[in-house]
Amino acid sequence: MASEREESRRLLIRGGSVVTEEGVRRADVLVVGERIAAVADDLGSAAADVDEVVAAEGLLVMPGFVDSHTHLDCPSDGPSTCDDFDTGTRAALAGGTTTIVDFAFQTDGSLLAGHDEWMRKAAGRAHLDYGFHMAIVDPTPQALAEIPELVDRGVTSFKAFMCELDGSLLGEQALAVILDGLKESGGLLQVHAEDGAEILRIAEGVRDRDPRSPIGHALSHPVSVEVAAVRQVIDLSRRTGQPVFVVHVSSAEAVDEIERAQREGLPVHAETCVHYLTLTVDELAREGFEGAKFVCSPPLRGASDQERLWEALRSGVLRICTSDHCPYNYTDKELGREDFTKIPAGLPTIEHRLNLLWEFGVTRDRLSPSELVRVAATEPARTFGLSGKGDLAVGYDADIVLFDPEGSSYLSAEHQNMNVDYSAFEGVRCAGEVVRVISRGESVFADGKVLSRPGRGRYLARGRSPLGRDEVA
Ligand code: MN
Ligand code: MN
Repeated sequence: MASEREESRRLLIRGGSVVTEEGVRRADVLVVGERIAAVADDLGSAAADVDEVVAAEGLLVMPGFVDSHTHLDCPSDGPSTCDDFDTGTRAALAGGTTTIVDFAFQTDGSLLAGHDEWMRKAAGRAHLDYGFHMAIVDPTPQALAEIPELVDRGVTSFKAFMCELDGSLLGEQALAVILDGLKESGGLLQVHAEDGAEILRIAEGVRDRDPRSPIGHALSHPVSVEVAAVRQVIDLSRRTGQPVFVVHVSSAEAVDEIERAQREGLPVHAETCVHYLTLTVDELAREGFEGAKFVCSPPLRGASDQERLWEALRSGVLRICTSDHCPYNYTDKELGREDFTKIPAGLPTIEHRLNLLWEFGVTRDRLSPSELVRVAATEPARTFGLSGKGDLAVGYDADIVLFDPEGSSYLSAEHQNMNVDYSAFEGVRCAGEVVRVISRGESVFADGKVLSRPGRGRYLARGRSPLGRDEVA
């Protein structure tokens, strides 16, 4: 239990440039206990009365980043993801992420049992604050009847897969049933939009020609299957008037569809993920089996897709950039050496989202620092009902990242905190460096070291998404 002294511990961050979605300004930040107590031009007069002064001259002071799409300790047909709530959240902190929303899965037919199960996985392990979405894999009436209780527990967003999850391909019909089940409680439906049946059909032909090349995975997931699924989701929103949120949008054409729907006034929302912005499908054609390190669904696309994604992120057509952290060891990817369809799909990215968005976004004039904060902290918190997170303002949780834009970060398997045997960004040097990370007033990362402990993270019961149907015009 924290002592009274700790509960009112005062920390003053002096002389930094505070970055919010509104802009950048030179300001001091006073933290009292777990909250931000003041943000002002000059809080020097408070300096005599604090427990610690952090000199932030030359540093950017940003809100702790919010990653609303992670898969920790997540089972699959093959191996489980290789970061659990201990290793995965340590790595997240080291990279400036202080809040995650992970995907819990319906378990033994029950959504509530799934939530219980993921609460157990996180308890005693998480280093940072966390919430859960609920993935619905079998929308039975019994399962859907559990939705109101889940919303009461703070699980206010759900996910449906239109492709390859334990063979359960949810078609338009099933999505409509789920949307109907969400109507009353205002839960937000996220969709993995790829046409699963079509992928299986294409993959068969590709495999017959060459089963051993990882690039076969990308060839089996062409842009057309993403676009077809996105169209179905948009149609569904048009028919029902309900909001939908398309996760991990990867292609320019899918963005075009989403932008058109938004212009039409439909409540169609979407995110992209950091790897689609920074890696291309060319990685899958690497010598031998190396390309397997880059297998994810949807697959990496081309350079022109990337430019469209950056532009859409900047303009707001894509609201959020997440990690979709879904790590498998290269040794696990070996499962697909003789058959690319068996390569576990997912990339280790939770630790380097900020580094990569800074290097590939800010230093290359695709995002401003404020836009970075918006898409990776403020908007994910707002979209997913995480009150008190994602902004640097009085009353918010004191989740704060000190970032040195003059520093640099070297990404490699050897130096990363993620529990993975490779890096998808091996040898990449990024401008900028995370200097210190504060979570609810506590310094949890400093001088290159994670200072946190497993179990200090708290479960976040989330409020309803403002994208929920009542609040969308
Ligand atoms: Mn997915
Ligand atoms: Mn995912």
